[in-house]
Amino acid sequence: MQVRLATSRGFCFGVEDAIEIAEAALETHGPGNVVALGPVIHNKQVVGKLEQAGLNQSGELEIIDPAKAVLIRSHGASPETIARAQQRGLRIVDATCVLVKRAQNVVRQLHEEGYHVVMIGDPNHPEVRGVIGYAPNVTVIDRGADLEQALPYRERLGIVAQTTHSPVHVAEMIAEILKRPYREVKIVNTLCLEVTRRQEAAVALCAEVDVMFVLGGLNSANTREMARLCEEQGRATYHIETADQLEPHMVAGRKVAGVTAGASTPEWVIAEFVRKLEAI
Ligand code: SF4
Repeated sequence: MQVRLATSRGFCFGVEDAIEIAEAALETHGPGNVVALGPVIHNKQVVGKLEQAGLNQSGELEIIDPAKAVLIRSHGASPETIARAQQRGLRIVDATCVLVKRAQNVVRQLHEEGYHVVMIGDPNHPEVRGVIGYAPNVTVIDRGADLEQALPYRERLGIVAQTTHSPVHVAEMIAEILKRPYREVKIVNTLCLEVTRRQEAAVALCAEVDVMFVLGGLNSANTREMARLCEEQGRATYHIETADQLEPHMVAGRKVAGVTAGASTPEWVIAEFVRKLEAI
């Protein structure tokens, strides 16, 4: 089987930073004394390794022992969550990606400037849940169908997007919003270029192969979006997490396979998968 790799794939700087911060926190506070508020990144294999090194995880701030340090993951957290952690006396280790932090600051600033903030993103994604905490009553819209119900009438709208959304999708949503009679619309580009580059490389690779493999956590928004874009190119696409999930029927009758990976997928997962694929 011939295998081609996407020119841009795998770990982004935000994920690398978050892992380094988690490892440094374990060195400072000791194994067992750092609790991540949810998975540090959306990748089970990496999270498993950090757990083995002594990082604990909890979705509930209230049950974390105040003697421990709490790690804010790359997706960030709302100011209300940070305040609750401080009130409980927890030491905070902040691994929020700088680009997510920028989106948080933009939302706060748009509100201060008098805009009603609209965020294009998945309302259930932890990044979005955190970012919208930086202004009151932020409207979150995901797909076109949400527009009619969710978009309020306000004269001045300030628009941002979830960092991992595709520019094409965000542009379509903005075009829909602009069809409505808002007096002023301010758009701040909060998309992550790391994600955009991976999406463009995946789409380009689709033209050279007859099956695409997108590696990464099934709960990873940027990986799911990349798989969706590959499917949109009309290419047979499999979104899987590791080499164990590769089955012969996926490549039956195919000659060239393309491989890419989400921003939270480490290079060793990609290498292991490629080895297995090449051996077929
Ligand atoms: S994908 Fe982009 S926004 Fe998300 S952690 Fe990586 S660099 Fe940061």
